Amino acid sequence: MTDTRTIQRLDSAHFLHPFTDHKALAEHGARVMVKGEGIYLWDSEGNKILDGMSGLWCVNIGYGRTSMSDAVYRQMQQLPFYNSFFNTTNVPAVQLAALLVQVSPPQFNHVFFTGSGSEANDTIVRMVRRYWELQAQPERHIIISRKNAYHGSTIAGASLGGMAGMHAQGGPGVPGIVHIGQPSYLEGGAGMSEDEFGIAAAGWLDERIRELGPDNVAAFIGEPVQGAGGVIIPPKTYWPEIQRICDKYGILLVADEVICGFGRLGSWFGSELMGIKPDLIAFAKGVTSGYIPLGGVLVGDRVATVLTEKGGDFNHGFTYSGHPVACAAALENIRILIDEDLVGKVARDTGPYLKEKFGALREHALVGHADSCGFVAGLNLVHTKGATVFDNIVFDGDDGVGMICRGYMFANGIIMRAVGDRMIIAPPLVMTRDEIDEMVGRIRAALDDTLAELKR
Ligand code: PLP
Repeated sequence: MTDTRTIQRLDSAHFLHPFTDHKALAEHGARVMVKGEGIYLWDSEGNKILDGMSGLWCVNIGYGRTSMSDAVYRQMQQLPFYNSFFNTTNVPAVQLAALLVQVSPPQFNHVFFTGSGSEANDTIVRMVRRYWELQAQPERHIIISRKNAYHGSTIAGASLGGMAGMHAQGGPGVPGIVHIGQPSYLEGGAGMSEDEFGIAAAGWLDERIRELGPDNVAAFIGEPVQGAGGVIIPPKTYWPEIQRICDKYGILLVADEVICGFGRLGSWFGSELMGIKPDLIAFAKGVTSGYIPLGGVLVGDRVATVLTEKGGDFNHGFTYSGHPVACAAALENIRILIDEDLVGKVARDTGPYLKEKFGALREHALVGHADSCGFVAGLNLVHTKGATVFDNIVFDGDDGVGMICRGYMFANGIIMRAVGDRMIIAPPLVMTRDEIDEMVGRIRAALDDTLAELKR
């Protein structure tokens, strides 16, 4: 294999990376990943690293599954590509649509395929507005999202997202998108119980709808558990109250399940765990465990009926909508999730075990709070024991203690992500109890190293 330095030099000379400071990259050189097996990665220097982030929240079935490469190989030989425009289709796309309908909540009987989560959310923006046009209410065009949300990097995805750092770049976003606060109890819940705060935070949606005028609002969108914003697990009262408010005004409820879908929270879809019935679900990542890019929108009967019966053409779609090879990969991925009962294991066994073991990190001198939901978890680094956050949970605050800690995580052979002062994980769903013990041990060692550096 070409040596690491040559790859790093070519990388920094020619490869513009997403969300990366290229000056720093040129100075240090990128870490070059060369192999994956189960929950582990190897870099070009031979280091074995436990992947606490499933790649980018996506490798749910773990790395190195040869049945995935076999399925992709077979489909590439049979039919590597055909489009699904203008009354044509292909077998894996049809089979996948039918299987997705089987594993999703009962209100879903239709699927629109995209190439990514961002494209799924762009599709949702156009689809909800098309829905209201077909209902002869085109003025219902405003979509309400949340601060600190992440919905992708296309222009509509970035506009739906609520991270200040993204809004500050790239010029004006898509008009008709507004944001309310996120349900972060640690940041906003002073003087309230968690349940009270959940109702209060959902109430911000009601207030905003009344300000905008209910007849102008098309939809509300949110991640069941906010992921990239820092694994913000809402109080259990939050989502049912959001559902009640959407129903009261007749506005569409959209769940962005690009992270939460396909077992991440120990349910097929996070909205089931949160006790809500969204009209649309955005998915990607876990649908193929990231082996091949694929995304899409589960379209509930309320919207699908209007689009199919009143709609005529929906002038929207992608070259790769229903890509046969990506769909073949998704079919095999979902077969593995079902046959190995990975979703059930997270729900009944490894999810609760992770909660216990990860939660015990609360005792560490540098940890103010640690929580998890299924197979996402986060802990807050603190100055002083008793506090809940070091500074503020902010996406742009990446240069602080979180980044120091992230470096020590790497040094201790584990990938953990820093979101400001919050350290987060989303491990592969195949992770066993023993592997959870190993992961938590590595996290503890990295916290010790971080504390030692802070004391120096
Ligand atoms: N929505 C959520 C909740 C995400 O976490 C992401 C990516 O991390 C996206 C959308 C965008 O997906 P993609 O990167 O596949 O475009």
